[in-house]
Amino acid sequence: TISMAVIDKSGRIAAGTSTNGATFKVPGRVGDGSIAGSSAYADDEVGACGSTGDGDIMMRFLPCYQVIESMRQGVKPKKAAEDAILRIARKYPKFVGAVFALYRNGEHAGACHGWTFQYSVRSPGMKDVQVFTVIPLELS
Ligand code: ASP
Repeated sequence: TISMAVIDKSGRIAAGTSTNGATFKVPGRVGDGSIAGSSAYADDEVGACGSTGDGDIMMRFLPCYQVIESMRQGVKPKKAAEDAILRIARKYPKFVGAVFALYRNGEHAGACHGWTFQYSVRSPGMKDVQVFTVIPLELS
């Protein structure tokens, strides 16, 4: 799965997801990639979020919508991402998945459960892409 978010020069924000859904797909189901709020979500007033992981579980929680709504309330990207992942992991302790959260000012973070997650960032001031590695959350 590739989930991507972009902020353009004028501050417009977009997000999208492309997946073959092969890893976790239940035969016959519609992949979570096509469900707004599950695999990706963006709002110019707030930021963007993308996800990867077990879509059959994530689509029940709309984690990307949750991230945006948390950030809209003033929660920082890191906490917003962690909260969205933990909401799922509390109900599905074996859940494997991740989100990245991007606030409209460019601040970003990731959170994951069940695997180590990596995401890449590139902004105009950077010479190259920077890869961020996120340590999986544990349920306490
Ligand atoms: N979310 C995708 C799906 O369940 C799979 C993935 O992210 O790797 O179709």
